Amino acid sequence: MNFSEDVFLNFHAHQAMPEDDEVVIQSLFLQDNLITSKSDKIFFTAGLHPWHADQLSKIEVVNRLEKLLESKLIIAIGETGLDKLKGPSLEIQTEILKAHVEVAEKYNLPVIVHSVKTHNEILKLNLDLKSKVPWVLHHFNGSKQMALDFIHHGFYLSLSYHINNENSRLSEYIADLPLHRIFLETDDFNIDIKSLYKITAEKYRISIEELKKQIITNLNHLVNGK
Ligand SMILES: [Zn+2]
Repeated sequence: MNFSEDVFLNFHAHQAMPEDDEVVIQSLFLQDNLITSKSDKIFFTAGLHPWHADQLSKIEVVNRLEKLLESKLIIAIGETGLDKLKGPSLEIQTEILKAHVEVAEKYNLPVIVHSVKTHNEILKLNLDLKSKVPWVLHHFNGSKQMALDFIHHGFYLSLSYHINNENSRLSEYIADLPLHRIFLETDDFNIDIKSLYKITAEKYRISIEELKKQIITNLNHLVNGK
């Protein structure tokens, strides 16, 4: 898969309405979504969100993912993950997460992870499963130590509006994170991906053009392993 270098990449959103100079990675909900639009500005990931982890069985998750993979438009598996505040028990969520990882390993695809108050559990699962594919923690807003731990273990971090929130620690330490492990995303919040690029470029003291290039390089590494 080849990605143009001169675009603003929105790494994670569930609704996708990209402007001319944007590319969106749209996260589909496995229990209800089929790919509707074919566009060179939208790529897809698919997964059973942890909030919905009791809506499909493990085998249904595997079957649906494999069916969707035939379209060749799916560039990663997820979002999947663990959430202590919402959704069914962590036991169920963990089983469903494992099903996603199984498929990701089989097809050599990255995993998009949702984690709320479960960063240690996610890190431990990644190690226990000896996962060989990269995992991306989306909407990350943890401590600097946690961020560096994840990166040390091969994770990428996808960051959102917290980078511009003075009350968030992330806004203070973001520029200490290695840029080759970072993505930016709106998720479904009403924010402009371009404003996130502007803030990030300022924090790292680089141009927006350089940042666009770097993030597409990151995407190529993530998806193509090069
Ligand atoms: Zn999401």
